[in-house]
Amino acid sequence: MLIEKNERIRNKGRETRNKRKTQTAKSFEIKLDKSKISKEKLDNLQRLFLEGKWFTNYIISKGITDSVPYRDYKVNKVNVKVKYKFEERELKLLSSQMKQYIIKRLQNNVKALHELGKKGKKVGKIKYIKSLHSIFLMQYGNTYTLDVKKRTLHIQGLGDFKVIGLEQIPNACDITTANLIERNGDYFLHLTVYVPKEEVHNRKAIGIDLGVKDQITFSNGIKVKYNVEMPKRVKKLYKVFSRSQYNKETKERSKRGQKVLAKIKKEFAHENNQKKDINNKIAHYVATNYEFVAYQNDPINEWQRLFGRRIYQTSIGGFRDTLKRKVSTPLEVGRFTKTTGICMYCGYSLHLNLSERVFKCPSCGHVQDRDVSAANATDYEGLSLRNVGEALVDDASTSNMLKYLKRIPHVKASIADEARSPKQTDGAQEAPSVRVG
Ligand SMILES: [Zn+2]
Repeated sequence: MLIEKNERIRNKGRETRNKRKTQTAKSFEIKLDKSKISKEKLDNLQRLFLEGKWFTNYIISKGITDSVPYRDYKVNKVNVKVKYKFEERELKLLSSQMKQYIIKRLQNNVKALHELGKKGKKVGKIKYIKSLHSIFLMQYGNTYTLDVKKRTLHIQGLGDFKVIGLEQIPNACDITTANLIERNGDYFLHLTVYVPKEEVHNRKAIGIDLGVKDQITFSNGIKVKYNVEMPKRVKKLYKVFSRSQYNKETKERSKRGQKVLAKIKKEFAHENNQKKDINNKIAHYVATNYEFVAYQNDPINEWQRLFGRRIYQTSIGGFRDTLKRKVSTPLEVGRFTKTTGICMYCGYSLHLNLSERVFKCPSCGHVQDRDVSAANATDYEGLSLRNVGEALVDDASTSNMLKYLKRIPHVKASIADEARSPKQTDGAQEAPSVRVG
C-alpha cells in the first residue's frame, strides 16, 4: 500500500515537472483588504505570525540539524521565553503543514550554514528570531483557496479574507504555493502561478553575450546597458540608522532606528523590483521573437565576487534565469567553451586580452566589436550543439528591437560599431575596459 502510494507521488512529481517545462512562472502580490476584515480576524492573523515565531524559536531551541526528520509538527504547545522565565503557549492557528514548512526552512538554513562552514567560512549558529514575517502556504486547494467572484482568500483554520488584486491572475493557470506576508502591519499574499509558455516557431535564432561593462550584447549587434542605482537618500538613511541607539541588553534598535531600517528595506525591495522588471521586459522581447536563444553558462557568481556592485546593480544572473524560463528553445553553451576571439567568417581563433574591445581577424581581416563577435560565436555554438540545423539569422528586426529596448526605463540600448573592412581599422581601439571572458 505504502509503496504504491510512494510510486504514485513520484509519478505525479514527474508529471508535474514535465508539465512545468512547457510553462512559465509568474508571481503576483495580492493585498488583504484590512478595511473589510473584522477585528477578530485581524487579531487571528497577528496571532498566526506570533505562533509562527514561537514555533520557529522552539525548533531552534531543540538544536535543529539538517539530517534528522522532525516530527514536531504535531506539537500543539510550546514554551516561550517571557522576560526571564518560560511560559507555555498554545498553537491554535498554526497548521501542521505550516509547521512542517517552518521546520523545512530551518533545516535548509542549517544546511546552507553547514555548506559555508565546509568552504572554510566562519559561520555562526541559527539565531532566535524576534519576529516572523512570512508563512508558507503549501498546497493550493488545501491550505488556501481563492475565490475570484467573491474576491476572497480562504486560509485553512482562519476563514475568508477580502482581498485586492485578484484580477491580475490569468484565467487559465495553475496556482501552486503562496507566501502570506506581513509588512508594516499590512498583509499580502505572494502567489506563484504557472501559465503556458508562449511557444514561437519561427526558426529565428539569436546569440547573447553577457558581460560586466555592456551587460547584454546580442548577435545582431545590439548592446544593452542598465544600472539601477541606489538613490542618494538611501545613503542618508544609512547614516541615520548607524547613529540610532542600540540597546545591548535587549539587542534592539531604538524606535527611530527600526523605522529607518524599514525604510531602507523598502528601498531595496523597490530597486530589486525595478531590476526584475527590466529583466522581464528584455527577456519577453527575446522570447516572443526568437525560437532559439543561445547564451553561455558564464560563472556570474564569480563575477559578482570580482565586480561586486556593478553586477549587483544589473543582476544579469537574474536576466539569464528569466530567459531560460521564457524562451521556447534555450541553447546553453558550456562555460568553458571558447566564444571570445573567434572569427565568425573564417573561424580563426585568437586570444583577446581583457582590455581589447575589438576583434580583428589576423587571417581574413574581419573587424568586429568583441562582445558582438562573442554573441555570434555563442549563437553558432548553441545551434550546432543541439543540431538545430539552418536557423534564420535575422537582421531586419534589429530596429524594432532597438525601439522596444529604448522604451524600457533605465535601459540604454545601442548598435555596436558594425563590422568594418580592414582598411578602416586604424583607431578602432576603444578605451580599455573590463570584461571577464
Ligand atoms: Zn577571419
